[in-house]
Amino acid sequence: MSTMITEECINCGACEPECPNVAIYAGGVQWEFNGEMHDAISNDLYYIVPEKCTECVGHFDREQCAAVCPVDCCVPDPNKAETEEQLFEKAKRLNPGKEFAALSEANSRFRKA
Ligand code: SF4
Ligand code: SF4
Repeated sequence: MSTMITEECINCGACEPECPNVAIYAGGVQWEFNGEMHDAISNDLYYIVPEKCTECVGHFDREQCAAVCPVDCCVPDPNKAETEEQLFEKAKRLNPGKEFAALSEANSRFRKA
């Protein structure tokens, strides 16, 4: 499940530098994937590229955008369901130079007690 930013966003920009997959862009800014540029998904508000979001699986124990958002508008997108395994594979594809630790409660929101 990709995380999404709702219309409650106040454009504070706090989330963008926290994303380990560079999945967050300011409104109107083109997003990059495999060296190709794509038109902005939102022209007015910060947005998350579903193809680049892993719900922070592989990196952190919870979604970092949601952790810093002052208005709690980074939420799971119910239309973009993915398994933990799919998200971990995505994280590896997005970060080919990174050594990932095995999934645990330290780097997957799915492992929390
Ligand atoms: S959940 Fe994690 S990977 Fe997805 S946009 Fe937020 S910070 Fe980036
Ligand atoms: S932290 Fe929240 S309010 Fe700020 S830009 Fe990101 S989504 Fe919008």
